[in-house]
Amino acid sequence: MTQHRAIVVGGGAWGLPAALELQTRGWAVTLVERFEPGGPHASNGGSSRLWRLADTQPWRARSLAGTVPAMERLGERIGEPVFRRTGALWRDDLSLPAVAESLDAIGHPADRVAADRVGEVFTGLRPDGRDALWVEQAGVVHADRLLQGALGAFRAAGGDYRPATRVTGIEAGESSARVLLADGSSLAADQVLLAAGPGTPELLAGSGGAPGLGIAVPLTPYIEEVVYVGDPGAALPAPDLPGLIDCAVGDGAGVYAMPNGAAGYKIGLDRPLRPLAHGTLGDDLDRAEDPERTEQIRSRVERDLTAIVPRVLATQVCTWTDSGDGDFVIGRTHPTVVLACGDSGEGFKYAAFMGEYLADIVEGGPGDAEYQEHWDPRRFGDATEPSGRVSAIGRH
Ligand SMILES: Cc1cc2nc3c(=O)[nH]c(=O)nc-3n(C[C@H](O)[C@H](O)[C@H](O)COP(=O)(O)OP(=O)(O)OC[C@H]3O[C@@H](n4cnc5c(N)ncnc54)[C@H](O)[C@@H]3O)c2cc1C
Repeated sequence: MTQHRAIVVGGGAWGLPAALELQTRGWAVTLVERFEPGGPHASNGGSSRLWRLADTQPWRARSLAGTVPAMERLGERIGEPVFRRTGALWRDDLSLPAVAESLDAIGHPADRVAADRVGEVFTGLRPDGRDALWVEQAGVVHADRLLQGALGAFRAAGGDYRPATRVTGIEAGESSARVLLADGSSLAADQVLLAAGPGTPELLAGSGGAPGLGIAVPLTPYIEEVVYVGDPGAALPAPDLPGLIDCAVGDGAGVYAMPNGAAGYKIGLDRPLRPLAHGTLGDDLDRAEDPERTEQIRSRVERDLTAIVPRVLATQVCTWTDSGDGDFVIGRTHPTVVLACGDSGEGFKYAAFMGEYLADIVEGGPGDAEYQEHWDPRRFGDATEPSGRVSAIGRH
């Protein structure tokens, strides 16, 4: 029997688990990664990401529910857990009814927490008059462990891993595709999965004489900063608090935050620092922190998260890619190419799920009809200019 060949472009949160899954299913997979998994330039650096089932829309909550068994399967595959349940508090005045309804619809009802009791459920959280939901099914993805474990398993299964290798273009044929590399060489395969995160726009459009894929999607990659806070003198710098989604009040910024063990408590705002130059990763590799943003986050901790020592332990800057409507962009674009991008800042919790889902699509499957209605790369029609509007956390 002929072994099918696949090239996965991008060894990040989505591409790497998909490469592992395809290799495990008997494909001969080459994984081409411009840097290396977990590096600072794309979207997958750092030790943790928040996961949750809560969402304002039932179809998304259903897809989120699918991430848990997928993470369990991936954990078994690589020999260590890739996530930890901590629960999370979701506080808001606008989105609570819709989130509660979505969680009910998937059979994971959440408890309502009255405004004056939030500091009991999330120790030290300053009450601000808004109720919250206690979301039991939430916690932290061990991002670095997941990536390193998946990479180790991929290589052990015979996968061909090419780090420090930049893809410059893709030629999509009817029965095979060719991936062009920056050193002038190329690779061919039956199927290509394009999962290049913030590097996707240049590969869709084509650059430096290399061909594009001839489809346009309104992607905007942004740079964002997270800050780790806590007591630098303590073995555990912050108490083992749950996750937090503190939606915006008025024009203020919303907060997402999670426990990180020895690294401190990690917190970010739903406000990117800036879009990437020229709308793509390209050569925009500056990941310097913004001292003003660092202080903005630190002072927010001091004001609202009173159980945590408001000292900055570390900062981290990375990218995420807005899709224009806040939904992922996933599907087959050519007989030999599958596209997966537009993570909209919440794709890591889907890493294990996407490994299996994208492998199904590469193998010719249709995907879930409801998800594909929302994730279809062609859904934008002619509206392919980036919107420039950033979705606030909990509000899409
Ligand atoms: C500050 C911050 C906080 C976040 N918090 C959360 C969170 O709490 N929960 C959550 O679920 N998600 C979170 N995310 C989002 C999550 O990290 C992303 O959704 C996820 O990493 C996207 O996966 P991806 O595979 O699409 O892209 P990536 O993980 O970026 O992977 C793409 C890979 O492609 C490679 N690549 C790019 N161009 C090329 C090329 N030309 N040739 C070869 N390789 C290429 C890149 O180097 C990269 O490794 C956060 C993101 C940021 C920046």
